[in-house]
Amino acid sequence: MDCIFCKIIAGEIPCYKVYEDENTLAFLDVAPCADGHTMVIPKKHAAAFVEMSPEESGELFKAVNIVSNQIMEKMENVTGLTIGMNTYESAGQTVMHTHVHIFPRNENDGGGTTHSIVNNAKSSDSEYLKKISEQLTK
Ligand code: AMP
Ligand code: ZN
Repeated sequence: MDCIFCKIIAGEIPCYKVYEDENTLAFLDVAPCADGHTMVIPKKHAAAFVEMSPEESGELFKAVNIVSNQIMEKMENVTGLTIGMNTYESAGQTVMHTHVHIFPRNENDGGGTTHSIVNNAKSSDSEYLKKISEQLTK
């Protein structure tokens, strides 16, 4: 399969590894948005997060938690993290092998929050929110 992250897992492409377990690999992003910008990926190929099973997702986020703590404990000037995933092209995913971004943060880094990603909700009206919640649960 022509997948760059599968090639990293297979050792065919080098990476700056920061964590590995049976199901997961974490390595530094080659084009970092912040010092310590890390990618956490499942070893089993899944193009996008929603194509993983709940169990596989749980293993992935267990590793995200471990790596997050590594970064918080071992990197200087890191007082927070932004953790996120772009899922499918419409959300900005460019590498079609599931990956979680961990961005080390501090008060003076000039970065935004998850609230700055998109801002086009039609309404915050309670009836409208109720309708959406019903749609999602029926
Ligand atoms: P996304 O836009 O969410 O799909 O993120 C893909 C990320 O993968 C980008 O931040 C790239 O810089 C990163 N990336 C692409 N190729 C490599 C590589 N060989 N090693 C590490 N990170 C990579
Ligand atoms: Zn892959």
